[in-house]
Amino acid sequence: MSMTDWETVIGLEVHCELATETKMFCGCPNDFGAEPNTNVCPVCLGLPGSLPVLNERAVEFALRVGEALHCAVPEASIFHRKNYFYPDMPKNYQVSQYEEPICGNGWLMVPGPDGTARRIGIERAHLEEDAGKTSHVGAGAGGRVHGADHSLVDYNRAGVPLLEIVSKPDLRSPEEARAYVAELRGVLEAIGVSDVKMEEGSLRVDANISLRPAGAEKLGTRSEIKNMNSLRSLARALEYEVERHAEVLGSGEAVIQETRHWDEEAGRTHSLRSKEESHDYRYFPEPDLVPVAPSAEWRDQVRAGMPELPAARKTRLIDAWGISETDAGVLVSTPGLADYAESAVAAASGSAGAAGAMGAMGRDVTNWVTGDLMAYLKETGAAPSELALPPAGLAELVKLVSDGTLSRSLAKEVLAAALAGEGDGSPAAIVATRGLAQVSDESALAAAVQAVLDAHPAEVDRYRIGEEKDRKKLRGFFMGKVMAEMKGRGNPQVLNRLLDEALPTSP
Ligand SMILES: [Zn+2]
Repeated sequence: MSMTDWETVIGLEVHCELATETKMFCGCPNDFGAEPNTNVCPVCLGLPGSLPVLNERAVEFALRVGEALHCAVPEASIFHRKNYFYPDMPKNYQVSQYEEPICGNGWLMVPGPDGTARRIGIERAHLEEDAGKTSHVGAGAGGRVHGADHSLVDYNRAGVPLLEIVSKPDLRSPEEARAYVAELRGVLEAIGVSDVKMEEGSLRVDANISLRPAGAEKLGTRSEIKNMNSLRSLARALEYEVERHAEVLGSGEAVIQETRHWDEEAGRTHSLRSKEESHDYRYFPEPDLVPVAPSAEWRDQVRAGMPELPAARKTRLIDAWGISETDAGVLVSTPGLADYAESAVAAASGSAGAAGAMGAMGRDVTNWVTGDLMAYLKETGAAPSELALPPAGLAELVKLVSDGTLSRSLAKEVLAAALAGEGDGSPAAIVATRGLAQVSDESALAAAVQAVLDAHPAEVDRYRIGEEKDRKKLRGFFMGKVMAEMKGRGNPQVLNRLLDEALPTSP
C-alpha cells in the first residue's frame, strides 16, 4: 500500500495556562520567572491539613473559552483527583476534571490555505492544576533524567490554573493541525485568558495521531506525541509520525499505542512509555471541593462581556479595507497587531472621513504593518504596543507617501528612524530635520535634468544615434545621475516626464 492510500487522523490536546493573578486553589502569585520555590504555600505544596479554595477568575476564564468555542456548559461540573506519583507533583495527585468538565462539545472554524474553513469539533475543555517543573542537571543529561547527576524541582508552577482543550479527531493533516493551534491561540489571546507563549510553556500541545485506510470508519492505533515547543515543531513532528505510521502499516506490521517524545534537534520521535489508560489513574471525586455551578446571571455577564473574536474581526477588516484574506489573517492572529493597525486607521480617519479613503488607508496601513513593522517586531521581539512609532505616527507616514511628500523608499528610511526612536513618534518631524521631503517642483527638477544632460554631451550624442536597447540603458544612466543630483528626493513621476521631454527624439 502506498502512502496515498492512508488517511491521517489527528486530535490535539492544548494545555493553556490561565493568566490569573493567583494560582488555582491558593493565593500564591501566578507569575513566570520568579526565583524557584518562592511562590509556594501549604496548599500548593500539598501539606497535610491544607484545603483548596477555587479561584473564581479561573472559572470565569473557562466560561469565556466555552463561549468562544461554542461549548455546552453544564449547570455543574466537578473536580476529580488524578492519582499518579511524580516528584513535580507534591500531592501525588492532580486536581483535574474528568467525567463532568466545565465545557463540553463545541467547535472552532479553522481556515484552510485556499480561503475555505473547516469546522473542527471540540470534545471538551476542563480545568486542572499544573504540576511543578523538574530540571535534570549533569553533562550526560541533555535535559532528560537518564544520565543526570541530580535533578531540581521548582514548585512555583504547581497549582497554576490550566485549561485543557481537547479537539475531536477531526484534523486531517499536520498543516491543518498547525492552523488549528494558530487559530485557537488567536482566540485565547483575544479573549484575554492567556498569554499563549508556546516557548515559555503557557501553551502546550500534545498530539494524537493515527492512520487508517482511506474511506474507513474505524480509527487506527494512535500514538501520542509530546514536547513540541512551537507551531513549526508541531507540524514537523506530525509529518514525521505520518511517515513512520505509513511505513509500519505499509510493511504489514501493527502500530504500538504509546507516548512518544519529539526530539527537535534530531528531527524524530522516540518511544517514551506505553500509553496509560484513564483507569490507570484511579480517578475519584475530589472531596475537598464543591461542584462548580456558575449561575445563569454570571454566564450571561460573561457572554455580554465577550470581545470580538478573530474570525469576526477578520471578516470585518476585509469588508472595510478590501485587504486580502491572508493579510487579514496575519493581522488578527496577533490581536495587538490588529489593534495597532485599527488605531492607525482611526487616527487617520479623523480627517479622511469617507469610507473609500478609509479603505485606502486600511490597505496602506496593512502593507506597512504586515511588511516592515512585522519584520521589525520579529527581529527585536518587541510587542506592537511597545513600538517607538505610535499608530498615529504610522498614519502620518502613510499620508506623507500618499500626498507625494515622501517616496516609498525614503518612507522606509523614515520608518526605520522612527522605530529607532527618532522624531518622537512623528515621521513628519524626521522628514523636516533630515530634509527628506520629496521635490516635485518642476523648475527645480527641470534644472537638474538639464544640468545632467549638459555635463554628459557624449552620452547624449550616443543616445541620439543609438538603437532602442542602448537608448534604454542610457536613459537609466541619466535618470540615476538626476536622482543623485536631487539626493534621491526628486519625484520620480515628474522626473520621468521631464527627462523624456529633454532627451533628443530620433537620429
Ligand atoms: Zn500556594
